[in-house]
Amino acid sequence: MTFDREALKAGVTVADGGWSTSLQMRGLPTDVMPETANLAHPELILELGRAYLDAGARFITTNTFSANRFNLERRQVEASVEEINRRGAELAREAIGNREALVAGSIGPSGKILAVSEATPEQLSPIFEEQAKALAAGGADVIVLETFSETAEILLALKVVKDATGLPVIASMSFDSGPQRTRTMMGARAEDCAAALEDAEADAVGCNCGGGINTFLPAVVALRGATSLPLWVKPNAGMPELEDGQAVYKQTPEEFAAQVPTILDAGTNIIGGCCGTGPEHIQRVAKLVERRKK
Ligand SMILES: [Zn+2]
Repeated sequence: MTFDREALKAGVTVADGGWSTSLQMRGLPTDVMPETANLAHPELILELGRAYLDAGARFITTNTFSANRFNLERRQVEASVEEINRRGAELAREAIGNREALVAGSIGPSGKILAVSEATPEQLSPIFEEQAKALAAGGADVIVLETFSETAEILLALKVVKDATGLPVIASMSFDSGPQRTRTMMGARAEDCAAALEDAEADAVGCNCGGGINTFLPAVVALRGATSLPLWVKPNAGMPELEDGQAVYKQTPEEFAAQVPTILDAGTNIIGGCCGTGPEHIQRVAKLVERRKK
């Protein structure tokens, strides 16, 4: 299976759900960096990847979201950026086996904000390049830049990743601000983000995390109105509630899936979940998508 932009635009494809939160549900301690499980507990990664495929997902995201050099150094992780990311992609590929699905190599924000000069573009470029090259080496079919808030940073990452790997890139941002949640934390408007990302040759644009599926519609509508690219949408399972200092997402698969038709009617092409969603949520979504095809 290859990333086929026109085929994606013409239909609805199901993606996977959250990784960090689902790994923690399956016993990964919350005080370890989830990405280190690619090396320490590969069986957990394979098991979750297969559960998402069994549920109907056709995009398997790698467990590499925050595995960039800045974060590994900050958390004093000994393993190399290259190894964690390459293994992440290899495990997703292994989970897929002979099935029809794509490995989406996940890259999150650097953690530094360009607008306030926490880092320069020259400092960020090699961070994204290193992660992207390792994901490509491990067999990623496409790179997904996810949960970004700063337009300048995602545009930089998009260019660096494309130049370094030649892979298609899905560019997804979090819209958790403004009266209708159509702005990023940095104040960027969804329609402006979509237009800028399309101009910069993203292969798909989208929104993920930052809110529950109940609050996603205005951002989806704004993105759809500003681009003709495939639209990738991965909401959280509701808003987190704090229990013993841990964020807990309580929206059931049924409650999550009940909102999906509205999100699809607004022009979503790829639907999955982010924090708090697991294989049971994706299974519900996939059944619903199948029913709509008939
Ligand atoms: Zn999330």
